[in-house]
Amino acid sequence: MSLKKKSNIFRTVAVRLTIWYAAFFMLSLIAIFVVSKSILSSNLTEIIDQNLFLETQEFDKDLQEEGLDRIKESIYSDAEEQGLGRAFYRLLSSNLEEISSSDLSKWKYLKKQNLREWAKLSTMQNAVYRTIVSSDNQSKARVISRTISNGKYVLQIGKIVIENKTLLDRYNKIFGGVIIMMLLCGVTLGWLAIKKTMEGVKRITVTALRIGRDGFDHRVQAGNEGEEIDCLAEAFNNMLDRIEGLMQEIRDVTNNVAHDLRTPITRIRGHAETTLQNKESLQSYREGYEIIVEECDRLVHLINTILEISETDAGLKKFNKTKIELVDLVKRGFELFLPVAEDKGIQLTFKGLADPIYVLGDVPRLQRIVSNLLDNALKFTKKNGSVLVEARKTEENAEISVQDTGTGIDSVNLTRIFEKFYRVESSRSTPGSGLGLSWVKSIVTSMGWSIDVHSSPHKGSTFVIKIPLKTQS
Ligand code: ADP
Repeated sequence: MSLKKKSNIFRTVAVRLTIWYAAFFMLSLIAIFVVSKSILSSNLTEIIDQNLFLETQEFDKDLQEEGLDRIKESIYSDAEEQGLGRAFYRLLSSNLEEISSSDLSKWKYLKKQNLREWAKLSTMQNAVYRTIVSSDNQSKARVISRTISNGKYVLQIGKIVIENKTLLDRYNKIFGGVIIMMLLCGVTLGWLAIKKTMEGVKRITVTALRIGRDGFDHRVQAGNEGEEIDCLAEAFNNMLDRIEGLMQEIRDVTNNVAHDLRTPITRIRGHAETTLQNKESLQSYREGYEIIVEECDRLVHLINTILEISETDAGLKKFNKTKIELVDLVKRGFELFLPVAEDKGIQLTFKGLADPIYVLGDVPRLQRIVSNLLDNALKFTKKNGSVLVEARKTEENAEISVQDTGTGIDSVNLTRIFEKFYRVESSRSTPGSGLGLSWVKSIVTSMGWSIDVHSSPHKGSTFVIKIPLKTQS
């Protein structure tokens, strides 16, 4: 990410999130406003309807107590009292003929035909309520039409609901103000919260840029933006540790490879030169070339081992897993090394379970693992020492154990013997490349097995390969 791009404020996550958040917040507030307004409006209409109904009941009562003439009078007087354009009253007979009506001349948008229809409807239902709106949308009225005096008359009352409109207008204004204030507060708080969170991301970016510029010495500092950012920073730092470790390993391996290849190549060159200078006989040429071929084979073996470790560690190597009888395989390995042990005056013993132990594995590699461990044990054990090789079984694992009474390894070196090319200083005079144990570890790990080592200087070492039985079904 270039710094130029970063400076464009509308491309930042903080601004984008704030815009989304503000839009969502605003929509929610508008939805709340619409719903609450419609609830308020319908409640107000309900109250008006109740009042209209109560008024029709009073008219009914007056009609029964004071007679029709008195009612006709109050139809005019009540309308005049409230304002002719604000209220109207009509009384009809049961066959819908008008008995009395207040002046309707100011009710231009009230159609006679509608009044007739509502009157007709009210003879069938108890009460009919309707809302009428003037054509300029300026005034709104609520009308009730209902039968009174046990169906002898139909009474119609209409009233402008101006208070209702004023109340709703005021509600609109108040709610509008509240929306704007809530939006401003919400967006400001949201922006600050998002910005604070983004500080952590920014710290990681700055660290990454510094690493790109100065190298792997930098790490992301701890912050207090929250668990997710802390986890991200920790994961990032762990990744950096790993990359730094790998790079160091690559450097070490490159140095070691250069060093370890130089020795055999120098040796090959030396043999070739000697052979060329030795003009005595064809036989001496032959012997010289035999040594060169041997050295070349060793070199190729070394390179192949390095490649196999790299491929296995990278998960690129696929092994042929077959069912193997472990006791037999270990015993064959032991038999192969008997002559070497005899030559060196070491007592080599095999101990194997009477019952077979079956495991899944790659036969040539398992054989090489046993050979590597036995080769080391015999290499680092002196005359009259002993080596015990075992194939056994515990509840969880099948195990191969190689125990020697050799030089042993101190605790500092013990942590490093599985590294590529690592050799304990004191054993540098013995033949070897320092790749045997790292190859074993690499194969064992890729198979889902493990290798343990216990060692005490001058007492001896025990290497144990553990093959979990539950993965062997
Ligand atoms: P190499 O044997 O070719 O040197 P390895 O990777 O097999 O390489 O072993 C690495 C080092 O670990 C050896 O050089 C030796 O110092 C030490 N080591 C391995 N096995 C034993 C053992 N059985 N006893 C003592 N030291 C050992």
